Amino acid sequence: MNRTVCIAALGAAVVVSSAAAVDSLDNIGEVRLKGPLGVRLERMVRAHVAGTDPDYITAPFLEKTETKGWWQTEFWGKWMHSAVPYAEYLGSGERGAGSGLSASIERGMGRMLASQEENGYIGNYPDELRCGEGWDVWGMKYTMMGLLHYYDWKLKGEGEKCKVEADAALEAAKRLCDYVIAEIGPGGRRGRELWQTGNWSGYASSSILEPVMWLYKRTNEKKYLDFASYIVDGMTKPEKGPRLLDLAEKGVSVADRDEPGYDTKAGWAYVCKYGRSKAYEMMSCYQGLIEYYEATGRKELLDAAVKTAEDIVKEEINLAGGCACSEAWFHGARKQHLPYWRLQETCVTTTWMRFCEKLLCATDDPKWADQIERTFYNVYLGALRPDGGEFAAYTPLSGNRWHGMNHCFMHTDCCTANGPRGFLCFLRELCRNDGKTATFNFYASALVKGFDMYSLYPRENTARIVSHTEGPLTLRLRIPAWSAATEVKVNGQAQPGVKAGSYFSVSRDWELGDIVEIAFDMPVVAHRLDHAVAFTRGPVLLARDSRFADGDLSEPLRSGIKDGQKMGGFAAVRVPSDDIWMTFSAVLPLGQHHANPEGEHWTQVRFCDYASAGNLWRQDNYYRTWFPEEYNQFE
Ligand SMILES: [Zn+2]
Repeated sequence: MNRTVCIAALGAAVVVSSAAAVDSLDNIGEVRLKGPLGVRLERMVRAHVAGTDPDYITAPFLEKTETKGWWQTEFWGKWMHSAVPYAEYLGSGERGAGSGLSASIERGMGRMLASQEENGYIGNYPDELRCGEGWDVWGMKYTMMGLLHYYDWKLKGEGEKCKVEADAALEAAKRLCDYVIAEIGPGGRRGRELWQTGNWSGYASSSILEPVMWLYKRTNEKKYLDFASYIVDGMTKPEKGPRLLDLAEKGVSVADRDEPGYDTKAGWAYVCKYGRSKAYEMMSCYQGLIEYYEATGRKELLDAAVKTAEDIVKEEINLAGGCACSEAWFHGARKQHLPYWRLQETCVTTTWMRFCEKLLCATDDPKWADQIERTFYNVYLGALRPDGGEFAAYTPLSGNRWHGMNHCFMHTDCCTANGPRGFLCFLRELCRNDGKTATFNFYASALVKGFDMYSLYPRENTARIVSHTEGPLTLRLRIPAWSAATEVKVNGQAQPGVKAGSYFSVSRDWELGDIVEIAFDMPVVAHRLDHAVAFTRGPVLLARDSRFADGDLSEPLRSGIKDGQKMGGFAAVRVPSDDIWMTFSAVLPLGQHHANPEGEHWTQVRFCDYASAGNLWRQDNYYRTWFPEEYNQFE
């Protein structure tokens, strides 16, 4: 936020954004999350991030045994992308996991640098398969991200040793990027364009744009911006390429972007090579395009990203903030009441949060924070195993939670490796305080720079922010679009002009102990789709869960509930056990035996938040979010 983009007056090139870059470490050490979310974060960092063995995920780089075109080389970079910020979050040494995590980062880094070849390559493919089909370029993308995160981390350290280590990481990233340029850059040795390599019509390889822009922003070397421009050309110009600009400008929905004649029955290899509906890779490309826009001012690229994301919200995102069937776009919002195959891949969930975070920072539009919040509280936390040790690969809207996969002969997979990065979007954007403006996007219990936040949100509808800052500052509060009548009080005085879907600003000379109170408008709302009904409360999707043992979860509702109806008859009640975060009792017109005088009475059942639903990760713990509605004889 407060991002300034300067465009050189004479057009030729360059110049760069300042302030609060997404993915930077600037903000992460200033937040301490408390309450149930703080506990979940601690568990995840301890069991998953700090629990990752750096030798295991760096071994492929030293062994170099890849023959199948797989993606063992994404795991270290993904891990670094969360390990470094969490090391920063925990602080060093005395905060527990920090020390072990820092040691793991150093250990992995040493092995990665040792694996770099003379020509700059870091990866596990044999020379004849490099920069071709498969996931080699994709792997190098994540390696560059890992190296640059290490660089940022060391830059913040003190002393000559940190500087030397930072320089070594930057140098390795430059040499790796130089290798990619020499092989598949303009006029490269391999005789093919970058976008022609890898999978998904060039999305996978083209998404290397993001760390190339990071490299450019850190070195200011023109050759990296030139390379980025070449990648952007590949993303936008070739007829058979990713077409990330013109198809967005024409308003083609993300699920409909395949070429005329594209044949979904032509076999998996064909689909992987030419498909344009792969959610994770497409969004990864737009993230790079936003970074490129920030450096060059090419506004049409940001506009294409915004338009695409708006289409995703409209066509794909479901009530849990999740999306994608078998990792692909499919107009899923319209079909979310149906049991689709491989729903809500965690890579897609995490990438959607990262994409929204970039849009939030680039546009300052709080609707992107609304999206992050909904995704975070539902599908994201739902995919995170309660002990923090793993992310599910897919999570259905109704069904049960289950373990992920083993990819590339390894005891990990793309999703569990990706998962920890998602929490960072929530953590970074919770509150940004640059000394002049403090923007609150989320309302979890936390200590942040200049303020404390006390809250049981979203279980309760209130949050209380207490100042421990003094002097003039503008406080901005995100008022969610779903909260029609939000009340804000400052030291007990109601504030006029609070509007849903915007930031509400309070500018004043703050004193220690000033109190801001927010009460959100959070009724339970019904949603209808065909003959199915679901319920949300604020950002949270509600689910029935087998643990409540209160009847058949597929029992239909009697007809009559309207889309958007505010539901009476729901009340927050005490949770029955520690593994459920929120529980609501509801009185609903459920059941098929209403010819019987007893059966026509309303039925009391319980709901929990979607993230808690099914979280025992057992077959006998199942849940449901969309409920059938009875048909009658005239339909
Ligand atoms: Zn995945």
